[in-house]
Amino acid sequence: MIRFKSLGSGSTGNATVVQARDGAQVTHLLVDCGLGIRQLETRLGRAGMLAEQIDAIFITHEHADHIGCAAQLAVRERIPIYMSQGTHVAIGQPDFGALLHLVYDCVTVDIGAMQVRPFTVPHDAREPLQLSCTDGATRLGVLTDLGHASDHVLEQLAGCATVLLECNHDPEMLAASTYPPFLKRRVAGAWGHLANEAAGAIARALRATGLKQVVAAHLSEQNNRPDLARSALAAALECQPGDIAVADGASGCGWLDA
Ligand SMILES: [Zn+2]
Ligand SMILES: [Zn+2]
Repeated sequence: MIRFKSLGSGSTGNATVVQARDGAQVTHLLVDCGLGIRQLETRLGRAGMLAEQIDAIFITHEHADHIGCAAQLAVRERIPIYMSQGTHVAIGQPDFGALLHLVYDCVTVDIGAMQVRPFTVPHDAREPLQLSCTDGATRLGVLTDLGHASDHVLEQLAGCATVLLECNHDPEMLAASTYPPFLKRRVAGAWGHLANEAAGAIARALRATGLKQVVAAHLSEQNNRPDLARSALAAALECQPGDIAVADGASGCGWLDA
């Protein structure tokens, strides 16, 4: 059984707990850690967890909204930390000793009761990876921070029952925003962030491979609204907008079954 809970999502900080249970064995993976340590602990507490219950940390890429207190937490609690070599280089190659596990595109790693498969995404970081996790029965995809859906991304997420999916912006709101032109180009570009309609197209493509649930994530506070993200995803999944959960910056979302 796979459950997950976003602790926060968006440019103010990303962190998601994924829980896999196999009989008596329970594994907690923290995907990204883009909060300060106190804030992370507060939000873990609200999720019914302590930092010491985290079995592993997976960092998708080096942007500040994903790294946060990752190094501090890993070292303090002696938690194994997984990332690409490019991400490790980009954060200055901190010495994690034996806690560091480098991960690679399409190479599955076993972490307790779950198997985690990272994959490369088009985003303006050094070596960004997103991931899917399974307990052997159900697969959960985590897909934020990418500029467009490559064939590789769609292949890697085929078979996911649930995807935590970036719905970063509405193109008209972005165009009309106070962002400077270079930033608008970056966000909307092929190595930036996904627009609502692009997220909808991914959901539509994955629906044919078994996708049942999408949680909207990484919404821009300035350039998007939850109702716009919900309608794009609901149209793709042919469900009601109210059925689409949104992970927000302040508290993420509740615990959900994948
Ligand atoms: Zn981000
Ligand atoms: Zn990023």
